[in-house]
Amino acid sequence: MQVEDCLFCKIVKREIPSEIAYEDDEVIAFKDIQPLAPVHLLVIPKEHLCSLNDTAEYETLIGHMFGVIRRLAEELGVAESGYRVVTNTGADGGQVVGHLHFHLLGGQALNAKIG
Ligand code: 5GP
Ligand code: ZN
Repeated sequence: MQVEDCLFCKIVKREIPSEIAYEDDEVIAFKDIQPLAPVHLLVIPKEHLCSLNDTAEYETLIGHMFGVIRRLAEELGVAESGYRVVTNTGADGGQVVGHLHFHLLGGQALNAKIG
């Protein structure tokens, strides 16, 4: 399922351009438009899931997404130096776009503070 006015569904459908780093049948990864680090990708399911809260029936997909993230970290050369994976969830989590996404951040020492 895809949602008409969801920004990230539009990226999946190529209605909004993005710099795509990886794609398969289930997942797409693209550069964040406002990068917070030299490496800043968003890894999303092609299916519209609002947030991690929606993933009870999707644990295989989540596992697949983490495999994609791990391989991207290798390919982008940050596996050794280190990186961070973040999924903001809901209002208090600071989620702005209501389509599940994992931020992959690296390429510099990240602020150790969370939140
Ligand atoms: P959130 O705050 O929901 O966890 O993160 C949403 C992320 O989406 C932000 O880091 C923001 O920069 C990114 N973003 C918002 N609009 C676009 C867009 O049109 N294209 C891309 N590539 N990233 C976007
Ligand atoms: Zn969506």
